[in-house]
Amino acid sequence: LRSELGNMERLSLVGQMAASITHEIRNPMAVVRGFLQLMHEKSPSTLDHYYRIVMEELDRANGIIDDFLSLAQNRVAEKTDCHLHKIIYDLSPLLWADANLRGQSIELELDENVPELRLNSKEIKQLILNIARNGMESMHVKGQLTIRTTVDDNYVELIISDTGVGIPKSKIDELFVPFFTTKDQGTGLGLVLCRSIVEHHKGIITVHSEEGIGTSFVVKFPHNNTNTLNLL
Ligand code: ADP
Ligand code: MG
Repeated sequence: LRSELGNMERLSLVGQMAASITHEIRNPMAVVRGFLQLMHEKSPSTLDHYYRIVMEELDRANGIIDDFLSLAQNRVAEKTDCHLHKIIYDLSPLLWADANLRGQSIELELDENVPELRLNSKEIKQLILNIARNGMESMHVKGQLTIRTTVDDNYVELIISDTGVGIPKSKIDELFVPFFTTKDQGTGLGLVLCRSIVEHHKGIITVHSEEGIGTSFVVKFPHNNTNTLNLL
């Protein structure tokens, strides 16, 4: 926990600088990327392999900058009354396209009793996308992603499950540590961002995983239960 707090503090410090860093770093990177593309168009065949690696690494660096910026920005984001299900439906085309490309399927099990919540819809979109993409990336062809909602007296629950490779027990504690990634193209910031978004909504995020079976991310959002008041 101690080292994790150290990481978080360091991250928030860097987060404060994210906006200016974005400018300073993204511009030269865009120039490099543009000229590489031009060089590639002029003589495509010879260095194809190197070209692909350089482009992928540039895009990965851009991804890290994007995630940094989101982390810095999400402290001031405002919330409005909105429905989790609307956000999920808005994301559907994007998610389905992604799943289709991978030969995977998505199932929705949405509880119609889920009430509106005070949410920042942009952040919640990012939350769902990040968790769903992780799920898809953990699965082979024919894998299934399930997005489920439920509600009880205190919480609305959002559960995103996959039938992927699962996460070893020894790695569970590292998931939310900045820059922890097992992917060649990973940033290791997706789940850091997710936790920050969930905390911003006074929620709780937990992970259940079994190797070879799959993983579920559970996000609990607190809500005021008016029904209980009516009964009193
Ligand atoms: P990234 O996706 O860039 O690697 P994340 O913070 O989103 O960064 O995730 C960190 C790591 O957690 C991943 O690299 C992966 O090892 C693990 N992980 C996250 N979600 C899942 C999942 N659904 N199934 C298996 N492993 C996962
Ligand atoms: Mg990720």
